[in-house]
Amino acid sequence: MLLFVFWLLAPGAGVPLLAYHQVSSVPEVYSIDPDQFEEHMRYLSSHGYTAISLAELFASKNGVQPLPPNPVIITFDDGYADNCLTALPIMEKYGMKATVFVIAGQVGQPEYLTWDQIRFMQAKGIEIGSHTYSHIALSDLDQPKLMDELTRSKQVIETNLGKPVDFLAYPFGQYNANTITGVKQAGYVGACTGLPGLGTTKDDAYQLKRVNIPRPKYGLWEFRLRLLRAQIYAMLSPVFFK
Ligand SMILES: [Zn+2]
Repeated sequence: MLLFVFWLLAPGAGVPLLAYHQVSSVPEVYSIDPDQFEEHMRYLSSHGYTAISLAELFASKNGVQPLPPNPVIITFDDGYADNCLTALPIMEKYGMKATVFVIAGQVGQPEYLTWDQIRFMQAKGIEIGSHTYSHIALSDLDQPKLMDELTRSKQVIETNLGKPVDFLAYPFGQYNANTITGVKQAGYVGACTGLPGLGTTKDDAYQLKRVNIPRPKYGLWEFRLRLLRAQIYAMLSPVFFK
């Protein structure tokens, strides 16, 4: 049993892509308390993790630049205003950065980031990706609607930020082979799913696995397990973490 625990806590062979949503004290399953988020950032920083962008991950995949030791990718889906107001100052305190997938059609709506906030984050080293235009399950769409969601969001974000948008996160983690073809056609370099696991250099660029970080029930211990053994945790979680 002890050996099993040691093995669980040994660093995994791959890059964890952490998937956050809101950082606020609203008791929603995809909202994490600022204190808990700070605990996670402190843990990453004190355990020698270096936050990298998806662009840096792909540069290493393509042999352009090596990864730093202990790389981690911090992602946020949906583009909530608290990503800028609450999470960014905490990440800066611990030398971390992130990728924020914004819903292009929601920018500036109540509770969501404004373009000014998104530009501010980008200037601070935050990578901005697309989470489509209207946050709809892409696998349900016909071809014209699929391409509209993919290209409109990319163009709107690029126009507002003056920088290419290379990465997408699938809303609800839903996609199929047709979705992937569309994402490639729209010019994205890679895409994040909701599938659990660590990222490795062998992964399909359009099916990147992530480590989901919902509101924790078991504190930092749960975060460490999720971080280090995403796949095992996903297998155990239906049994132990209902
Ligand atoms: Zn979403």
